[in-house]
Amino acid sequence: MKYISTRGGAPTLGFEETMLTGLARDGGLYVPETWPTLTEEEITALAGLPYEEVAFRVMRPFVGEAFTDEEFRAILTRAYAGFGHVARCPLSQIGPNDWLLELFHGPTLAFKDVAMQLIGQLFEASLKRSGKRVTIVGATSGDTGSAAIEAFRGLDAVEVFILFPHGRVSDVQRRQMTTPDDANVHALAIDGDFDDAQARVKDMFNDHAFRDGVGLAGVNSINWARVLAQAVYYFTAAVSLGAPHRKVSFTVPTGNFGDIFAGYVAKKMGLPIDRLVIATNQNDILHRTLDSGAHVKEGVTPSISPSMDIQVSSNFERLLFELYDREGAAVAQLMGELSGAGGFTLSQGALQRLRAEFDSARASEEETSETIRTVLAETGQVLCPHTAVAVKAAREKRGDASVPMVVLATAHAAKFPDAVESACGIRPPLPARMSNLFDLPERVTRVENDLGAIQSIVGGERVA
Ligand SMILES: *Cc1c(COP(=O)(O)O)cnc(C)c1O
Repeated sequence: MKYISTRGGAPTLGFEETMLTGLARDGGLYVPETWPTLTEEEITALAGLPYEEVAFRVMRPFVGEAFTDEEFRAILTRAYAGFGHVARCPLSQIGPNDWLLELFHGPTLAFKDVAMQLIGQLFEASLKRSGKRVTIVGATSGDTGSAAIEAFRGLDAVEVFILFPHGRVSDVQRRQMTTPDDANVHALAIDGDFDDAQARVKDMFNDHAFRDGVGLAGVNSINWARVLAQAVYYFTAAVSLGAPHRKVSFTVPTGNFGDIFAGYVAKKMGLPIDRLVIATNQNDILHRTLDSGAHVKEGVTPSISPSMDIQVSSNFERLLFELYDREGAAVAQLMGELSGAGGFTLSQGALQRLRAEFDSARASEEETSETIRTVLAETGQVLCPHTAVAVKAAREKRGDASVPMVVLATAHAAKFPDAVESACGIRPPLPARMSNLFDLPERVTRVENDLGAIQSIVGGERVA
């Protein structure tokens, strides 16, 4: 399998290089040259298989020759061994034909573990073979950083540095980053906000001498391997509910558009998905895009579902590429307008295609809290705020009642205890397997918002 850039101006790469590179050199994102499909028989045969085996069969065509079958199976086994549920991503029921896909059984209690745990093992296997070492540097507003630390801790060929805004992440999120005691893990608290942290990481990538010197690598949400890993649970969920003999719809709490794009990938591969519903909080650029065709940035307003507080939905570029018949030049022009003028308007044809596959709905802060209360009263389940945004959207967009509606539950409620408690009065406890989080010692380096200061920490460790 070969990968091409959404902007049409970067070299074609194989799976391994695509995974290690992240962003394409023309500023675009890598996508597969063609969409492999599974036949109806192959999808039927997924029923009842362990998660790891479904992952193997779904991802295999994309991975190509990069790993042998035996290597890839071993990688998958290691990736999901640390999950707290034997089904890895189980379903639960919240209505007559309404389901939650629980994606929060990984080590940091959010869905990002599903992809990140796999990426950690893929990197390690690939680097062992080449003898190379890399330095992973990432900025986080909370969930991605801890997921990356959990995925790469203790690995031989990787040093990992995570920058988070000092004083602006929750206690659970901070402790998940500062308590792992592996020597290759470094949590850096920067004096600034998330945008500052993100900007300094970009600066490091743009400093080519530094980048090559320390072997910088990125694992942010545009990494193709992350998107691909997320396509797997659409298959396990849909097959459990009767696919391919029955259609299934999904609603996804959406920020960077990675998770829901994975659903689109599953559909392209032949999974009979009826509707894909984009759920947003008050930061609703995607909902406005479906509504009017205008994709226009506005300021970010902080919400109780902070992992969806974004202004630029990076992976939406991958869908644009499809909506514009895979014409890189058209995508490059739209993305130029987005960064230059702050927005663009979809062509009529592109908007029609978008609406043919996707619906969208937005939840206000009050509607989010209200949904946490309603679902608690109806089912006894306590939702995280991101999941509540999606349940609200799913109920609003519910079509044919005979089509199962699956809502992606992207985090455990215990990760956002303050918002959940103020919505419904219950302070959700951490699962038993991580109940010592508040007893462990923290290890963190405070750093000023200055590129030189950060580089001397990252570079210094690397040489040592
Ligand atoms: C990252 C995140 C999201 C948004 O996912 P995208 O792939 O960026 O759309 C939703 N919910 C939670 C809990 C997250 O951590």
